[in-house]
Amino acid sequence: MTKTTKPTPDSTIFDSILQIKNFFNNFLLWTLINVDKNNVKGTFKIIYQQLFFVVSIPLLLSCSAGDDLDSIGIEPEFMAPEKIVKINIIYVESSETLHKSSYTLNEAEFINYLNGKYFHRFGIGLELGESKSLVNEELYDLRDNEGSEPSTFLMQSRESYDKSKVNIYIVKRCNILGIAGIGRDQRVLITDENLFTSTAPHEIGHALGLFHTHEAENIMNTVDKGSRYNFNKDQEKKIKKRIDEINSNNLN
Ligand SMILES: [Zn+2]
Repeated sequence: MTKTTKPTPDSTIFDSILQIKNFFNNFLLWTLINVDKNNVKGTFKIIYQQLFFVVSIPLLLSCSAGDDLDSIGIEPEFMAPEKIVKINIIYVESSETLHKSSYTLNEAEFINYLNGKYFHRFGIGLELGESKSLVNEELYDLRDNEGSEPSTFLMQSRESYDKSKVNIYIVKRCNILGIAGIGRDQRVLITDENLFTSTAPHEIGHALGLFHTHEAENIMNTVDKGSRYNFNKDQEKKIKKRIDEINSNNLN
């Protein structure tokens, strides 16, 4: 967990967590298959199934520390994208703020910012899907859940996200700049003051399956935030593959 006032952790910690998680996933899946094969019933099977469920939930990363900056000197560039993914925007409100919402986001401008500065040049297009408000007291003031932001986010957003889109939850108050899930679903949480910074494409990158990298100028770099603007070829391929998977959810 990283707070805005502390230095960025080495991203290899996250990568190690992922490796351990994958190992357990594979082990539990193997065991589960064998338990099924041997037709073992009862308590042991239930324990394994529950363990498998717990370990196989998407890995959530909370990212970004310190000041985040808009990418310097990047001219927006628009072109016809090869792959398009829809973006849902979810404004998190409390029951008190719902009718006098303080979010003033120009959604079209936000999507243009993301496409022009970061995504179109790689043949990736984001398109606005729906936008809605979600009343959720836990998410509204995530500062009350210091230290457990990612798990709180995962729990509290599970009923409101759309698997056939990338879902961006926007909050006002949080100790961290962004949270994203890597795995089978696409949920991103960003504080509204960081929407027009490289945190937004970074978290969307996670939601589309990318991990951190040390590569200079890479959007998934956690260090040089002022100069993040690039996806490498592998990342571009990964994102496009993930977009195909997400869009195929529309057909189910
Ligand atoms: Zn990150």
